[in-house]
Amino acid sequence: MIFVSSEDSLNAIMEIIRNTLPPTTDISQIEYEGPEIAVYTKNPKILEDNGNILKNLAKKLRKRIVVRSDPSVRRDKEETANYIRTLVTDESEITKVTFDENMGEVTIEAKKPGLVIGKLGANLRSIRMETLWRPIVVRTPPIDSKTVKIVRHMLKTERGVQKEILLRIGKRIHRPVIFKDTAIKLTALGAFREVGRSCLLVQSNESTVLVDCGLNVGSPTEPFPLFDLPVFDIDSLDAVICTHSHLDHSGMIPYLFKYDYDGPIYSTLPTRHLSTMLQLDYIQITEKEGKICPYKKGDVKDAVLHTIPLQYGEVTDIAPDIKLTLHNSGHILGAALVHLHYGEGAHNLVVTGDFKFQKTRLLESATVNFPRLETLVTEATYGGKKDEIPSRHESEQELVNLINTTLMRGGKMLIPVLAVGRAQEIIIILEEMIAKKRIEAVPVYVDGLISEATAIHTTHPEYLNKELRDRIFHQGNNPFLSPFFTQVDSSNARQDIVEGGPCIILATSGMLQGGPSVQYLRGLSDDPNNTLLFVSYQVEGTLGRRIQKGFRDFSIQDARGRSQAVRMKLDVQTIEGFSGHSSRSQIMSFIRKVKPKPERVLTNHGEAAKCVGLASVIHKRLKIDTRSLVNGETIVLR
Ligand SMILES: [Zn+2]
Repeated sequence: MIFVSSEDSLNAIMEIIRNTLPPTTDISQIEYEGPEIAVYTKNPKILEDNGNILKNLAKKLRKRIVVRSDPSVRRDKEETANYIRTLVTDESEITKVTFDENMGEVTIEAKKPGLVIGKLGANLRSIRMETLWRPIVVRTPPIDSKTVKIVRHMLKTERGVQKEILLRIGKRIHRPVIFKDTAIKLTALGAFREVGRSCLLVQSNESTVLVDCGLNVGSPTEPFPLFDLPVFDIDSLDAVICTHSHLDHSGMIPYLFKYDYDGPIYSTLPTRHLSTMLQLDYIQITEKEGKICPYKKGDVKDAVLHTIPLQYGEVTDIAPDIKLTLHNSGHILGAALVHLHYGEGAHNLVVTGDFKFQKTRLLESATVNFPRLETLVTEATYGGKKDEIPSRHESEQELVNLINTTLMRGGKMLIPVLAVGRAQEIIIILEEMIAKKRIEAVPVYVDGLISEATAIHTTHPEYLNKELRDRIFHQGNNPFLSPFFTQVDSSNARQDIVEGGPCIILATSGMLQGGPSVQYLRGLSDDPNNTLLFVSYQVEGTLGRRIQKGFRDFSIQDARGRSQAVRMKLDVQTIEGFSGHSSRSQIMSFIRKVKPKPERVLTNHGEAAKCVGLASVIHKRLKIDTRSLVNGETIVLR
């Protein structure tokens, strides 16, 4: 065993870089920057002119390299901003230009980022060459997003802190490999044979990572992952990978920072924005209910500063023995399948998180091609024998019929929705149906966190499916900006809607666990002409689930916190077909099509009978080894 420090390994890397790049590059500094190596130079132009030098260097080092200019050679900031505004066409609608002196980056916010970038990146190249600042282009959300503003502000004010964080993370990632044994140990910390608190611990002799760190909002007795297990040691944690923003996958990430976790969070950019929104909202809700939130705003900020956003398909070193790649999972905006590649191909693991193996109105279907794959961990939400989901087409038809019936009898339609995912899917369908006059053009009210989540969707249209992207980019026809929808944000406005004429209401929370949807329900429940329509999975223990089971008398708290008895007379309906999860047959065809064929499949994220049932049917029909772990159990993969 040879012990070499990361300092030594940086020295070795530096030597290769200095020997490979031409002396005229005039390197002033080389340092770790998260998974990348940053090279500061007084003459970045020379590398711009000889693109192949960098490619060869990256190949030689097997690491990603980012070129940054030395502060002494960068052009004056004001001059640079002026240069950019003159170079780029006004149609791009630049809204903000900000500078990061630590990194030598200029961030350009614009309504049409494509026009800032220019054909094949021509403008970016000109900016790099003329100003020696590194341009980063981001979209100004066409709908104002509070969260995107908060996140960008956090990053802007803490750039120095973030640089230090990336330096520490980089040192840890690039420490030399010590052990040759590549056995991998998986421990189920949460969401095995249950839904909620998703958390999987993956350990090798070299490294420890968590895939997801969620919170079970529906369970007052067991809300958190099993952090108490001796096998979990926060100090040895190299990385946390977040598959998607739903709180049962991301809700406990800030908690780790409360206990001094200082490592990276890897996720897509939309996931960073959406989970920040949901975590901040969760703090607010718990405070409002007089409960104690396991973390504070400062912990959420820490999580933002430690997040390293990755694009789908981008291969990244996250520990001495692990390369991580995220792939589209089709579940919600930015949701990812996680591919972990250990050692020199010694083991490959895919964790699906939540996934949809079908194209939806919003997203492309989950990816099935991986360079290598031995072990697959799949969700089993709808893994039961009877869990067939009606087709999208049938479900849309049913939605149209239910709305028309309700409107025709002078009623109002209340659809409780999860803020992220189902809400946007329903918005797209309603927009089309109203435009095609298949439903009457009544007011459609959107209430709760939905508009904020929709604004984040419009910030990242490149993550939407091809048709939707084309509509937004090439036809300037963004359904999320449609005038059919009216945003509601006050209690008085809600009362007016309840007392007003026929309409459609989309409101959070999706399972009637507090929020505006409950206020509407209270106001609408007395009239049998009204309809309450469920379009997403209702977790056991929620009011939504109880109503689905036939429960009609209940008490809810009014605005002043007093208990009120309510007897529901309105019509209650459910459409299952809009789910963002795969049905059993979709899971089976995903596993059949996934390449290469995995040697073993583990099931999680489903009620016990579904996890076990799915494992058994995969084994029987596909002749693959399967296991359905229980929480707390460890399995060793060799
Ligand atoms: Zn989810």
